[in-house]
Amino acid sequence: MRHRIAVVGGGPAGLTFARVLHRHGHPVTVLERDPAPDARPQGGTLDLHEGLGQLALDKAGLLAEFRALSRPEGQAMRILDTDGTVLRDWRPGPDDRANPEIDRGQLRDLLLGPLDVRWGQGVAQVVPGTRDGVLVRFADGREETFDLVVGADGAWSRVRPAVSPATPHHTGVTLVETSLDDVDTRHPDLARLVGDGSVAVYGVNRALVAQRNSGGHVKVYAQFRVPPDGHTGPDRDPADVEAVRSDLLALFDGWAAPVLDLLRHGTAFVRRPLHVLPVSHTWAHVPGVTLLGDAAHLMPPLGAGANLAMLEGAELAESVAAGPGDPDEAVRAFEERMWARAGRWARITAAGLERLVSPDPAEALALFDQVRSS
Ligand SMILES: Cc1cc2nc3c(=O)[nH]c(=O)nc-3n(C[C@H](O)[C@H](O)[C@H](O)COP(=O)(O)OP(=O)(O)OC[C@H]3O[C@@H](n4cnc5c(N)ncnc54)[C@H](O)[C@@H]3O)c2cc1C
Repeated sequence: MRHRIAVVGGGPAGLTFARVLHRHGHPVTVLERDPAPDARPQGGTLDLHEGLGQLALDKAGLLAEFRALSRPEGQAMRILDTDGTVLRDWRPGPDDRANPEIDRGQLRDLLLGPLDVRWGQGVAQVVPGTRDGVLVRFADGREETFDLVVGADGAWSRVRPAVSPATPHHTGVTLVETSLDDVDTRHPDLARLVGDGSVAVYGVNRALVAQRNSGGHVKVYAQFRVPPDGHTGPDRDPADVEAVRSDLLALFDGWAAPVLDLLRHGTAFVRRPLHVLPVSHTWAHVPGVTLLGDAAHLMPPLGAGANLAMLEGAELAESVAAGPGDPDEAVRAFEERMWARAGRWARITAAGLERLVSPDPAEALALFDQVRSS
């Protein structure tokens, strides 16, 4: 008997889950809140690790297409002192495919492929244990039931309350994102500063990171620690572009002019207070409902979240597709595996954030050296 399976959320976790089930000939309903695939920009670039995101794409039969699209040269990383001195300038070897970069939009299109996503289906609530299965209540009041509902709906998951009371808390670090377009033509000096990959500058309790995306697009992330009083930092209206810019220039006052140019030329600003779920977030198993990705283990954005989300999606799909019986047994075993692995990464990334946005910028450099030599 074929079970009625729904995944809530068409991000890296949900789409990888659906794509691997699809590959195994198993029907799945993808419920995504966005009204259309191009309804909003998908954000910056992601590095997909060999044993995590790339393994997931292999399970989805998409590794060759990923290799054709991804940018191995994007692994390059330069670290500057706040006065502009180059402290580290690391470039990947010609055959280094450990963590190539791909734009989020490209990854989403790759995963979407033949999937029949139901767009504009915001889920408001999930109620397990009804007579006909797990009830999904939509934001517009409609209801539908499934045998298995997988919550892959990100940081502020509407599925999570069905299994766990946990909610994300602020890390003490807030990030403001801006972008530069057509950088090679319009800002050649900044294009050289960023290089093929990323440039990072670490100061006292603040950092500035710029990453090259495809098509001459650069994303800039200004990160800063806010006082531990529950606030998530200056909350000026991001639409007031010049006011946000002048706040940031004041915050990074005294840093080298070419570094500050990344903020001077940024177009729009998006404020992202960094929230996390408790490290080692687990829950008592609830038949018919589970979580993947950020919904299960939101952690600081240090290159692991999308990778874990995708591998979890692929592994759960394979387990569900393999078993002829009740998918709940596969889900239980999967949850144990996910919790153990995600717990390890949550500890690593929490400690990493403490060192990258810290009172002692030498900590960030030491972390970089440690990662490069491991
Ligand atoms: C600045 C930044 C940089 C990052 N860089 C990296 C990196 O280089 N490498 C890496 O591995 N990770 C990175 N991450 C982390 C990564 O973005 C996340 O871990 C990853 O996107 C999680 O995927 P997900 O599918 O679980 O959730 P999401 O990507 O959040 O996707 C959730 C999906 O669910 C949909 N949705 C939400 N609510 C509902 C609802 N109620 N009903 C229906 N649909 C809903 C959303 O529209 C969305 O499409 C970064 C994060 C940030 C903020």
